[in-house]
Amino acid sequence: MRSFEPPRRILMGPGPSDVSPRVLAALARPTIGHLDPAFQALMEEIKSALAEVMKAPGHACVPLPAPGSAGMEAALQNLLEPGDRAVVAVNGQFGERMAEIAARAGAEVARVDHDWGLPVDPERVGAALKAGKTKLLAFVHAETSTGARSDAGPLCALAHDCGALSIVDCVTSLGGIEVDAEGWGADVIYSGTQKCLSAPPGLSPFAVSAAARAAIDARAAPPRTWLFDMGLLMGYWGGAGGRTYHHTAPINALYGLHEALLALLEEGVAASHARHLRMHEALAAGLEAAGLELLVAPADRLPQLNAVKVPDGVDEAAARGRMLARYNLEIGAGLGPLRGRIWRIGLMGASATPWHVRLCLTALTDALAAQNYPDASRAALAAADAKLGD
Ligand code: PLP
Repeated sequence: MRSFEPPRRILMGPGPSDVSPRVLAALARPTIGHLDPAFQALMEEIKSALAEVMKAPGHACVPLPAPGSAGMEAALQNLLEPGDRAVVAVNGQFGERMAEIAARAGAEVARVDHDWGLPVDPERVGAALKAGKTKLLAFVHAETSTGARSDAGPLCALAHDCGALSIVDCVTSLGGIEVDAEGWGADVIYSGTQKCLSAPPGLSPFAVSAAARAAIDARAAPPRTWLFDMGLLMGYWGGAGGRTYHHTAPINALYGLHEALLALLEEGVAASHARHLRMHEALAAGLEAAGLELLVAPADRLPQLNAVKVPDGVDEAAARGRMLARYNLEIGAGLGPLRGRIWRIGLMGASATPWHVRLCLTALTDALAAQNYPDASRAALAAADAKLGD
């Protein structure tokens, strides 16, 4: 066995995205104890930075010690008790996962299924909410498996009007498009560190409203999960000190998250959204100039996740393989019903730059030309340059 030296890759798939050097440097700082006063000061800064970027000033905000799925698991397992009715909107892989976890929590799951590539339909969700006494609505804001964005505010309002709580998956949205827990009236939102926050995977920023905390406190029995039991977790993260041991926090990962949040706040959350949108417009213009089509209708597209239809006769895996081998550039494949039919190009966090857009268009048009698709690199780059204007 030898030290592991990863190949140098450029990450433009559905996540993880490129991690900036300042975050990598923060991760390598000396480990201290998780009850050290200096570490507790860092925890307080992380909590308030999360409240700011998630627009959740009245929520309790903590990073859970595991990847984005931990946020999903924690939200559903803390709020659902056996026999509760949960409406779950499914418009891709991650809504599917929410439905699966809700069923494992013993809930009666009312699924609202959509074709993959469409946003969640408020009318159908409203009808499902009204069809029975419902504990909560769960849906994905930014569906990474398709690149579709759903309108979170009206969906949370529908839940609220029916006396139900709302859980919004913001794993891919946070930092890339507007996330507004307070404005939406969302009860729980959670994210992941490896998308538009550009830190490595392994933590799940989580925000929980007072109403959701009250629902957790009123449970007949403790949640089936111990590590993600919000009552226990808040004993460690809650308040402003006097912490009791719950688990050993992933110290260095939290240094990384702290640095990533600092970088986002220095850039400005709105400026980060504007950058993601500008890169998406340039990439989309380049792709369209190359004769390629995006899966999702323009109004519903996520800037940070671009689902591109694979042209007839093109071997999608061979194209990705060539991009990786020749350019060290990773893009993603389709999942589920979209397997073999789309590529997923991420423009997330540190991977949302003009350089990434140009490299991706160069590599993709080269990979297509290698399969006898007409060479479109010049047209694609010219169209992207016209949008980038530099
Ligand atoms: N939700 C969404 C929308 C995601 O894109 C992902 C991961 O890609 C997850 C949940 C799960 O996150 P993780 O893979 O970090 O557990």
